[in-house]
Amino acid sequence: MSKHCESGQVSRRTVLLGAAGALPLVALGVTGAHAGKLSQASVNYQKEPHEGKHCSQCNFYIAPSSCKQVDGTIYPNGYCTLFVAKG
Ligand code: SF4
Repeated sequence: MSKHCESGQVSRRTVLLGAAGALPLVALGVTGAHAGKLSQASVNYQKEPHEGKHCSQCNFYIAPSSCKQVDGTIYPNGYCTLFVAKG
C-alpha cells in the first residue's frame, strides 16, 4: 500500500514538473509561428515573378513553400520587395 502511494506521489510530481517545463514551450509555440515574419501584403508579395526574379532564386526562400522573412504560403514563382538573389 505504502509503495503504491509513493509511486503515486512520484508520478504526480513528474506530471507537475512536466507541465511546468512545457509552459515556456507552449508560449514559444503560440508566438513562434509568426515571430519575426512580415505579412505578404506589407512586402507586396505576388504569385508571379517580377522582371525575371522569383522566390526560388531568393536567399530567404525555404522550399517547397515558405520564406524566412514572409509569412504564409510562398510559391517558388512568387516575388516580393525583399527579394535578395542567392549568393
Ligand atoms: S522574394 Fe520575398 S517572399 Fe520570395 S523568398 Fe524572397 S523574401 Fe521571401
